[in-house]
Amino acid sequence: MSWEENVRRVVPYTPGKQPKAGEKVIKLNTNEFPYAPSPKVREALSKIDPEEFRLYPSTTAEPLTSAIADYYGFKADEVFVGVGSDDVLSMAFLTFFHSKLPVLFADITYSFYDVWAEVYGIPYETIPLSSKFQLVKEDYFRANGGIVIANPNAPTSLCINGGLSALEEILQKNPDSVVIIDEAYIDFGGETALPLIRKYDNLLVVRTFSKSRAFAGVRIGFAIGNKKLIGYLNDVKFSVNSYTMGRPVIALGLAALSDEEYFKESTKRVINTRERTKKELSGLGFNVLDSQTNFVFCSHSAKRASDIFEELKKRNIYVRYFNKPRIDDHLRITVGTDQEMESLITALKEILCL
Ligand code: PMP
Repeated sequence: MSWEENVRRVVPYTPGKQPKAGEKVIKLNTNEFPYAPSPKVREALSKIDPEEFRLYPSTTAEPLTSAIADYYGFKADEVFVGVGSDDVLSMAFLTFFHSKLPVLFADITYSFYDVWAEVYGIPYETIPLSSKFQLVKEDYFRANGGIVIANPNAPTSLCINGGLSALEEILQKNPDSVVIIDEAYIDFGGETALPLIRKYDNLLVVRTFSKSRAFAGVRIGFAIGNKKLIGYLNDVKFSVNSYTMGRPVIALGLAALSDEEYFKESTKRVINTRERTKKELSGLGFNVLDSQTNFVFCSHSAKRASDIFEELKKRNIYVRYFNKPRIDDHLRITVGTDQEMESLITALKEILCL
C-alpha cells in the first residue's frame, strides 16, 4: 500500500493571480481596497514593541474582540475573531455543519464554500440562482444541514432580492440549521443582517477587514452571533489552533477600527468610482450588474470575456475571469483608484476598437 492512499486529496481554491515581486500591474482581480489603511494604522505600527513578541497573544484576540463588539453594539462573547474571514468561515463550516443533510448555497457564489465542504467531508448542494443571478428564497425552504449566503454576493455583486425581509424569511423557515450570512462586501452597499442576531439564535454574520478597511494583507475577519454559537465556534478553534492571531495584527486592527472618519470617507470614494465605472463600461457596450460591492460583474455584447481578460493581461491589467458554467462570459473587475479605472477604460477602448 502506498502512503498516497491515505492522503486527504482535495482540489484547492484558486485565488486570483498575484503579480511577481517588482512586477508593475494594475491589480483589479482580488477585490482589494485601492487606498492605504487609515493613517492611525501607520501610527500604531510605529508603536509596536518587539519586546511583546516573546509572549503568546490572547487566544480570543482580545482586546480586538471587545472593540469589535463595542463598535457594532454587541458583547465580547458574541464575537469571534479570525485570521481573515476565510479562517472564520472555515471554522464555522467545521463547527456547525455536521449533519447528514446537505448544506445549501448558491451555484454562483464565493468559490471557497464548496472547497471547505469537500475538505471537511460535509455534504452540500448548490442551488441555482435565477437567470438574472438572483437568489430564490423559496429554494431554501427545505430540510438541510445548514445554509450559507453571501450578501452582497460574489462574484455577481448583487444583494438578495427583497433585502433583509427575504433573509428573515429564510431564517424563519430554518430554525434547526445554522444560517451563515457572509457580509464581506456589506460596507459598500446592502443592508446588514446584524440586527436579526437578537431575534435568531441560529444566525452567524461574518465580516472582514480585508475589503473596506484595506487589510487584505493583515488578515482580520470576524463573526457575530448568539453567545452559544460563538462558544461552539471557540471550542472548535481551540481544538485546532488556539493562538491564531498575532499581537501586531491585534494592535493594527484596533487602530483601523478607531478611525471612523477615514473609513467612511474612503469607502465613499470607492463607491463613487464604482458608479462612474459602471456608466463608462455600459458606454463601451458592457452589460454591468447593479453592484453593491467594491467590484463590478459584467459581460460584453460583442467580445468574449476570456479574450478581453487575456488582452488586458497583456497590458498588465489583471481582472478576474471564471471559466465556469453560466459565468464564463463575464468578468469581475475590482474598483481601483480613479486613475486605475481610467487606464482600464482606455485599454478596453483599444481592445474593443472603439
Ligand atoms: N467572503 C467572500 C464573499 C469573499 O469574496 C472573500 C474574499 N475572497 C472572503 C469571504 C474572504 O476574505 P478574507 O479572508 O480576506 O477576509
